[in-house]
Amino acid sequence: MSGAKFDLVIRGGTVVSPDGAVRASLAIDGGIIVGIGDDDVVLPARETIDASGRHLLPGLIDCHVHLRDPGTLEAEDWQTGTASAACGGVTTVFDMPSTDPPVSNVANLALKQGIAAKKSYVDYGIYGLLGHDNLAELESLSDHGVVGFKCFMSSSLSGRLPPPDDGTLVEAFRTIAKQGKRCIVHAENLAIISYFEAKLKKEGRTDPRAHADSRPPVAAAEAVSRAIVFAEHAGMRLHIAHETSADALPYIAAARARGLDVTVETCPQYLLLTADDLAEKGGVLRCNPPIRNPGHDRALWQGIASGQIDAIATDHAPHLAAHKTKASIWDNHCGMIGLETAAPLMLTEVNRGRLSLSRYVELSAANPAKIWDLYPRKGALQVGSDADITIVDMQREGVIDQERLQSKCRISGWHGRKVQGMPVCTIVRGRIVMRDGRLEGTPGWGRPVRQHAGPPNRLSKAAAGEKRTPAEGNQE
Ligand SMILES: [Zn+2]
Repeated sequence: MSGAKFDLVIRGGTVVSPDGAVRASLAIDGGIIVGIGDDDVVLPARETIDASGRHLLPGLIDCHVHLRDPGTLEAEDWQTGTASAACGGVTTVFDMPSTDPPVSNVANLALKQGIAAKKSYVDYGIYGLLGHDNLAELESLSDHGVVGFKCFMSSSLSGRLPPPDDGTLVEAFRTIAKQGKRCIVHAENLAIISYFEAKLKKEGRTDPRAHADSRPPVAAAEAVSRAIVFAEHAGMRLHIAHETSADALPYIAAARARGLDVTVETCPQYLLLTADDLAEKGGVLRCNPPIRNPGHDRALWQGIASGQIDAIATDHAPHLAAHKTKASIWDNHCGMIGLETAAPLMLTEVNRGRLSLSRYVELSAANPAKIWDLYPRKGALQVGSDADITIVDMQREGVIDQERLQSKCRISGWHGRKVQGMPVCTIVRGRIVMRDGRLEGTPGWGRPVRQHAGPPNRLSKAAAGEKRTPAEGNQE
């Protein structure tokens, strides 16, 4: 550390990890953290950021986004979607395969890889599709760099991506297990939700709550438990997407107690909203699985506190505003944006004492990095880690304004909501991509993530069988 100048030094901040927080300076060179030291030592640098009074988090990782590119560019593209990520403090996104064309074969994967390489502000992973008709493609998709696979157990894109039947699912899980990859599942039982949707429509229901009623918790619980049975049979690593239902959680806990590698995420909309909000706001909050009746949110918070839930993702799913404001709930497209609002919303809950900042770091950076084999290159502020850093100001207050978001989708279910705690600077491999709310990066700076081979990381506090009390969960 003598003589030469570092690319970047961040002084005066509090560095947060899942284990605690400490005042320290970070030195960054060549995109890597090269030193963490006493704040009093002045390090020579080409640029120095004064982070006094602020917290430095490992760059946030969102393993569930839909950037719509290729395909539905009027709703979002890789540039606007990852600009949202940068402004939301997110340094790595994993994009879902349900684009047009879907990532169901190597040619389609290459198409998306080319787009992402040109347009992305932040680092990224690309999922391959486990579809109803592409079993033969899974191995080559894996060889060509998908970060994992996604299976829609109900359907996606209004039925254009039908789910695999159970036989296909069993064989596909075996193939994915052989590749050592993890599969993320959207777990809802299609027969159950089709039945109730038809029934409610026949009864003439068009109110927003009908959407939640059409996809009852049992549809999630059944599909989660079936996915677990198949994953156990195949020896495949399983990730449950956007868990919403109190009813499904015991099946996940039981699987983990048996030692299975089953991980689970939830999203801010399921923690902070209920079907009462859906009834009030209508189409803008139509998403799948649905925002549920009060009570499910409390069960999810309990999972956050106990370690049963591993990660927070957004399921960022942009649509044109015109497709989110129809009178009949059934005419609204499913999905809502979230990349730019998740951190302020969750940091607000940290300020309210519902989780510690350390636990937030675990849920939003460390655990996603471990689940997807990126740790500690990502998900940690350690010497040798990528310099992916989200600087947050826990005091800063604001009001979410849908007109000011980077996404092409300018309609947000969070519009008008007060927040306290915001990302103020986002750094991807040493490059500032957002400062004081303004985008600073360059499209094309983002790179595909590099996964490590070998045995998976053990989740520190959320692994099989480990229990934490809510009180422990609240300590920083
Ligand atoms: Zn999704």
